[in-house]
Amino acid sequence: MKITEVRVVLNSSAGESKLKAYCTITLDNKFVVTGLKLVQSVTDLFLAMPSRKFMVRCVSCQAKNVIIAKYCNWCGKVLPECPLLTPKQIHYDICHPISNELRLEWQAHVVNEYNKALLEFKRSLESQEKSTAG
Ligand SMILES: [Zn+2]
Repeated sequence: MKITEVRVVLNSSAGESKLKAYCTITLDNKFVVTGLKLVQSVTDLFLAMPSRKFMVRCVSCQAKNVIIAKYCNWCGKVLPECPLLTPKQIHYDICHPISNELRLEWQAHVVNEYNKALLEFKRSLESQEKSTAG
């Protein structure tokens, strides 16, 4: 499967956040993967796969709540305290490439499009500054 389109939406609060962009990839003009996130790691940009948070059921009303919630969103009862969890223990991937080689290929495409989008954004800011200054 070849990547036929990459869409990148810059995170507007990226200055403070490690989350730099939201991304969508189209494969062979036939299959779309949404919910990808470009995250700044210590060394470089990392493409995070679409994910969801683990849920737990409220013992009182049986409604589903995110695993780190302290109170039920539906009935307000206190939920059992969960042990300290890392972000990896709170989220699970909905889908992902099986090989690291493919994941790195996707990441390279997305980082390339991210850099283009960032450059375009900076240019638009510069042209705005020129038009307001002059
Ligand atoms: Zn409840």
